Amino acid sequence: MDRVDIYDTTLRDGMQGLEINFTLEDKLTIAHALDEAGFDFIEGGFPLSNEKEAEFFRRCRNERFMNARIVSFGSTRGPGHKAREDAHVRALVEAETPTVIIVGKTWKAHVDKVLRCSYEENLEMIHDSVDFLVQEGRQVFFDCEHFFDGFRDDPEYARRVVEAASQAGAECVILCDTNGGTLPTGVVAAYDYLSGSHIAPLGGHFHNDCGTAVANSLAAVEHGAVHIQGTINGWGERCGNANLCAVVPNLILKMGVQCTCADHLSHLTPLSRFVAEKANVIPDKRQPYVGVAAFSHKAGQHADVIAKEGRLMEHIDSAKVGNERRVLLSELAGRSTIVDKLRPYGDFSKKSPEVEELVSTLKAREREGFEYEAAEASFDLLMRRVIGQYEPLVVLRNYHLETYKTAEAESKTVGRMFLSSENKEIMGAAVAVGPVETLDDALRDALGPHHPWLEKIHLVDYRVRVLNPEKETGAKVRVFISSSDHTHTWDTVGVHENIVEASWQALVDSLEYYYNTFVIEERAATEEPTGA
Ligand SMILES: [Zn+2]
Repeated sequence: MDRVDIYDTTLRDGMQGLEINFTLEDKLTIAHALDEAGFDFIEGGFPLSNEKEAEFFRRCRNERFMNARIVSFGSTRGPGHKAREDAHVRALVEAETPTVIIVGKTWKAHVDKVLRCSYEENLEMIHDSVDFLVQEGRQVFFDCEHFFDGFRDDPEYARRVVEAASQAGAECVILCDTNGGTLPTGVVAAYDYLSGSHIAPLGGHFHNDCGTAVANSLAAVEHGAVHIQGTINGWGERCGNANLCAVVPNLILKMGVQCTCADHLSHLTPLSRFVAEKANVIPDKRQPYVGVAAFSHKAGQHADVIAKEGRLMEHIDSAKVGNERRVLLSELAGRSTIVDKLRPYGDFSKKSPEVEELVSTLKAREREGFEYEAAEASFDLLMRRVIGQYEPLVVLRNYHLETYKTAEAESKTVGRMFLSSENKEIMGAAVAVGPVETLDDALRDALGPHHPWLEKIHLVDYRVRVLNPEKETGAKVRVFISSSDHTHTWDTVGVHENIVEASWQALVDSLEYYYNTFVIEERAATEEPTGA
């Protein structure tokens, strides 16, 4: 099959999505991450919309990209004047990107109601704008806004729009499902209708309002598209855009399409999580290919098979997209799950006493309300304790918290704690609004001077669940905490009748996990070897 260019619009269309925001620095680091993952085009934004967008393009001029071209986005000129006099079109020239993309109307209803000009004038606006930018030395792409609605309404006019942009020199004309209402059958009909016309190569831009944006992108490629647009994690306006984290591996692994991304496919999972981290959005665990659950298996009777013949249960090798197989823990977990989990720490068999002990510990903890499927870091600490590879970071002497509120003033919590860490007796204190933040701050106050790595770690999610609501306010709660150091994320759990104590357990586990997994190992690696 032919080559397909992958065009990312996370930094423009993706940012239209609910709760998605990036700073200028974020946008630059994301652009580099996309480049390293082999994306061909990165749409940086709309240079006229605000100063941050314009600054992004200025900064990009001095950045080096290995695979990607930076693209500025704008629209055709308005009716009644020349492209060279139009502020939108001029802003694209001033952005100084090698490639520009302009969007224009394809649906007659929009020409009538939005532009309020004749259908011929619309075609002239498209031709003039593309032509001007081509004369300015740019590689020009043209987005046909609401193409599929226009096509259903008047296929011949839709074709004339594609022709106008092609004849003016657009190198790719992208059929956009701007309101996301099209199904794959509609996509196929449009690409087939245009095939054989004297037009530029076609691309596709799909929104996910019918849940078919990925399917539509694949159908477009099967019917001739050589350029696909989308966003990381499928973020975008309303229900989002085509999710490139699914489109790209589908094209490469399932359809045998040539893409620059094919040489960098293992970047995909880290890229998805990195972009989520930058947006401060919790990654969707159930995302195809890149989600934490994508290659997860509930253990039990299948655990043996999964451990030995995992590929029989999975549609691809998870490593190809940079993901990994996980065997989830649960009360049903057989010994072979535990053996599998212990593998990084050595060769244990189902009969090892360590495995025996872990099985019974796990069962006892689950009866208390602990759940490790979503808290693998806490389970890792359980394993380390049993096999003697655990170094405590925090030995609690005592903590004390007091929440007070006076009249109209905001409530506050003061706290102090005494601990021992690495054989030093230390104390910490803090004042914050709530008890969990106070505990966290006081813990950092105590440990910070001895453990500068703590600065890198922050909490990305905190969730509480009541386990036995029939006990009312005396009920047990389970707290999950997700933490991150910008590269890794990990989850820990705590259970108690007292929400402060449950939070404390999860917080301490979070730091102890990082300390045992990364800090001690790094320390050992950098220590001077002793002796000869
Ligand atoms: Zn869009």
